[in-house]
Amino acid sequence: MKKLVRVTLVLLALAVVLAAVYACDNQKETGGQASPGGTQNSADPGNSGAQSSSSSSASPTPDSAQPTQLDPGTEDGQAAGYTVETGVLIMATNAEFPPYEYWEGGKIVGIDAEIAEAIANRLGLTLQIDDIDFDAIIAAVSSGRVDMGMAGMTVTEDRMESVDFSTSYATGVQVIIVKEGSAITDVDDLFADDASFDIGVQESTTGDLYTTWDLEEEGLATIYRFRRGADAVQALVTGRVDCVVIDNEPARAFVAMNPGLIILETEFAVEDYAICFAKGSTELRNAVDAALRELIADGTVQRILDKYIAAD
Ligand code: GLN
Repeated sequence: MKKLVRVTLVLLALAVVLAAVYACDNQKETGGQASPGGTQNSADPGNSGAQSSSSSSASPTPDSAQPTQLDPGTEDGQAAGYTVETGVLIMATNAEFPPYEYWEGGKIVGIDAEIAEAIANRLGLTLQIDDIDFDAIIAAVSSGRVDMGMAGMTVTEDRMESVDFSTSYATGVQVIIVKEGSAITDVDDLFADDASFDIGVQESTTGDLYTTWDLEEEGLATIYRFRRGADAVQALVTGRVDCVVIDNEPARAFVAMNPGLIILETEFAVEDYAICFAKGSTELRNAVDAALRELIADGTVQRILDKYIAAD
């Protein structure tokens, strides 16, 4: 009988222990369920912090802002790899191309400078502009020394082999500048069977490429290449070349500075300007492109163009 009591007591004790363990487990589960909520809340400030920082506002996929999916570590990692220098958007240009980029009062100003500034603002980045030779921009971009190139740059198939382009934000036209009273009155004069004009261009620009392929290689012209468009125009003023083939807006600026020059009505080529990026820098390109598209859609780009380009 004594043995039976002892067994009962042991069983009872076992039941109490089991009940306690079960209760404890249950509590843990409830705590576990509450915990993700707590984690979410405490993660929230982190997430909104990330949103106000460059990385998240720059993110091309708004879905990544889902709070439960966010790992702040990953976000920081993305921000670090986003641009060459964290928090900075480095743009290479050639500030010899009014009204797109030129020096004024110790500062690079112009259409590209302002659009880039607006893009950087949208992405929460600080814009830095590096002024280099035009023909060095693609190498600076593709080697990853800078984030992007923006220089009234025309989208061409050749360039697309070395860099990726954004959506186009402006149209350029290759025009012909001559001296008043020039024998060249129309683009067709450059293509005449017996043509042999001396043509000034800015080195490595589309004006250089087109005249080289279409005229010099056909034996119809001699091309003189200058580091700056302004130097090509100076060569025209001093009679070293017969005409200059260059983009229409800088052409207007250079003609305004040099009396006696005119721009022919007929155009050499019509082209699209866009921003270039290293091939494969998809994340940066998508972010900049999304910001640029918004700035086009809300009229900012047009306002900047109108500010610098006087209506005819
Ligand atoms: N649009 C021309 C090109 O891309 C010229 C640009 C420039 O001189 N900045 O070649």
